[in-house]
Amino acid sequence: MTSSIGSTVLGYPRIGPNRELKRALERYWSSRIEEAELRGVAQALRKDTWLSLRDAGLDSVPGNTFSYYDQMLDTAVTFGAIPERYTKLGLGSLDTYFAMARGVESVPPLEMTKWFDTNYHYLVPEIGPKTSFSVHDRTVLEQYREAEKLGVTTRPVLVGPLTFLLLAKPAADAGDGFKPLDKLDALLERYVELLGELHAAGVEWVQLDEPAFAADRTADELAALRRAYDTIGKLGNRPKILLTEYFGELGEALPAFAEAPVEAISLDLVAGTDALDKLAKTGALKKKTVVAGVVDGRNIWRTDVDQALDVLDKAGKAVGELAVGTSCSLLHVPYDVTAEEIDPQVKTWLAFAAQKVREVVLLGKAARQGKDAVAAELAEARAPITDRAGADRVRDKAVRSRLAALSPEDTERAPYEQRRTAQQKALGLPVLPTTTIGSFPQTTDVRKARAALRKGEIDQAAYEQRMREEIGRVVGLQEAIGLDVLVHGEPERNDMVQYFSEHLEGFISTANGWVQSYGSRCVRPPILFGDVSRPKPMTVEWASYAQGLTQKALKGMLTGPVTILAWSFVRDDQPIADTAKQVALAIRDEVGDLESAGIGVVQVDEPALRELLPLRSAEHQEYLDWAVTAFRLATSGVQDRTQIHTHLCYSEFGDVINAIVALEADVTSIEAARSRMEVLEDLNAVGFARGVGPGVYDIHSPRVPSTEEVTGLLRAALDAVPADRLWVNPDCGLKTRGYQEVEAALKHIVDATKTARSTTG
Ligand code: GLN
Ligand code: ZN
Repeated sequence: MTSSIGSTVLGYPRIGPNRELKRALERYWSSRIEEAELRGVAQALRKDTWLSLRDAGLDSVPGNTFSYYDQMLDTAVTFGAIPERYTKLGLGSLDTYFAMARGVESVPPLEMTKWFDTNYHYLVPEIGPKTSFSVHDRTVLEQYREAEKLGVTTRPVLVGPLTFLLLAKPAADAGDGFKPLDKLDALLERYVELLGELHAAGVEWVQLDEPAFAADRTADELAALRRAYDTIGKLGNRPKILLTEYFGELGEALPAFAEAPVEAISLDLVAGTDALDKLAKTGALKKKTVVAGVVDGRNIWRTDVDQALDVLDKAGKAVGELAVGTSCSLLHVPYDVTAEEIDPQVKTWLAFAAQKVREVVLLGKAARQGKDAVAAELAEARAPITDRAGADRVRDKAVRSRLAALSPEDTERAPYEQRRTAQQKALGLPVLPTTTIGSFPQTTDVRKARAALRKGEIDQAAYEQRMREEIGRVVGLQEAIGLDVLVHGEPERNDMVQYFSEHLEGFISTANGWVQSYGSRCVRPPILFGDVSRPKPMTVEWASYAQGLTQKALKGMLTGPVTILAWSFVRDDQPIADTAKQVALAIRDEVGDLESAGIGVVQVDEPALRELLPLRSAEHQEYLDWAVTAFRLATSGVQDRTQIHTHLCYSEFGDVINAIVALEADVTSIEAARSRMEVLEDLNAVGFARGVGPGVYDIHSPRVPSTEEVTGLLRAALDAVPADRLWVNPDCGLKTRGYQEVEAALKHIVDATKTARSTTG
């Protein structure tokens, strides 16, 4: 019996509706449960997912969407790409897997990095000339059988061979000029072998994910794509293949996808329909099934069914057989909005994974049986779309007129030299000023106080008293250590974005809207649904309290508009540049109030500036324009004497380096300890000539750098930057570290700075 894809989703969350997998993993890692119990939790989660997807009415249920940690790691293990340092440990298969993910005492884990432009992180496989691939692990086959026993036929999902290799990095011993893609033929043989086994087991469809082709690719990479899918396509004994792309439109990879000798491809039609229009003209898709990805897998808004039906109409005319799907896996949205106790009106506008599955099913029916057959359901699906479009509360007149009245001067400050003179006079800082990035260790006590407030065990006044005590301690500690620009330590913030979203109009927070970030770690992005404004100051009381405790300058601490957007689910009903400006104006008001309250230094963090960069270089400029405008709008409303800092969490600026110059911050702190200050030359090369604080303490490691080590880093920095522009600080916030290490490290920083001052004179 053969079946068509009909309606499907490309993947599903796996952490558990109540983060059951997270809890089980963490218990297993701390030896509180046995492997069998962990496996039991995993199996129960898979069962629930399969049955609920089938019962919701999907025609084709994706299989193998479960992972104990990460799908790239799974792929590496499936094909035996396990570096020797892990196999040598002699652990069982699951513990070897976790050693790759998390490291063990003696061996660090694989590197982790962001999965395209999402907030999900994958483990980076290491591939070298000596990597020998095999079909090492058959979980994909086992899970197919596991589902089959439950009466659910699944479509196993695998990361495709090209995306796997393109996202891998060369092994340390690979030698110059080696690229993981050089190993394509060897890897392909193993994919072929596994596909053969799946076929023999009765698997009808396999999904191969190739999102790497939503980004710019070289001619060689495109040729490799063709070669790989020619090989796979021409196999005699294989399942039918669904080749997917997502996270953007296909661009130059379009012909290779359209002509690949496979039965089906899926297209991300939320990103755009240019590809579809082009293919419709050539007739290239007439022999294929096309999964039209019309339900957004990356956002939480209900689908506009009429818009989706128009796209499906167009797609239906261009393709052999039409199927309906999500634009990408639903891994990037929370499980179920019905579980939320949130604003009832906004709730009706939202679709999490479970709701998106129902949308796909409905659109599938409408596409197959005609709109009339599902008229009542379509009417029901339309209601929240109409309601949202007309809702007064997403539009705030005052915010809109303020936006309309903005002029270019609102993003300009006086020339840097003039600001610099005024700031020197106002702040009177020594040469090589020392500071930190903002947060101090979040102690159990602080977390407990927050939990107690949430549960109603203590009242607001008691909580605030507790925070003031913490701030007092942190300020006292910094004075004792001898830092120059102090911070209040951010004890009141659970998260640098959530804190602000909870204080701004236009946002709501969820109670259970968790999304996997990596491994067992989840985040709960706030939802930005309407015009953003700031009803009252958000941080001024804390900062003023801290400033009142010291004669030294205290640095106010805010999160920038780009980062607030990057770590939220953002409304899709207006240009993101406008949303960014609204958030920027709210931050601008806060900066102004801090200034009025006597805070002379304000840091606006933008750690996410680089991560929102679009995958296609053709779209970079447009993004950087609005991002830079938003930051400048947030920070340009102050007097010359107020010093604006920003902080970025990385040292490889690449495509954003000119934007960093354009931010016009007076002082920019960056990560540099591990890269030994190399980044400073990159900044010099683009003419960056303002204050810079390259990190001299790698806070990602529990190591405490010695005074000599910091001195060495300072010397290297002084080779690249004149002393009168150089700041001395750690790489990032200290939130995740312990007090003992932090105190020692900061002392070494201050000591090293004293030595450097006496020698630079
Ligand atoms: N001010 C924040 C902190 O110190 C910055 C965090 C970050 O850059 N991610 O925690
Ligand atoms: Zn940082």
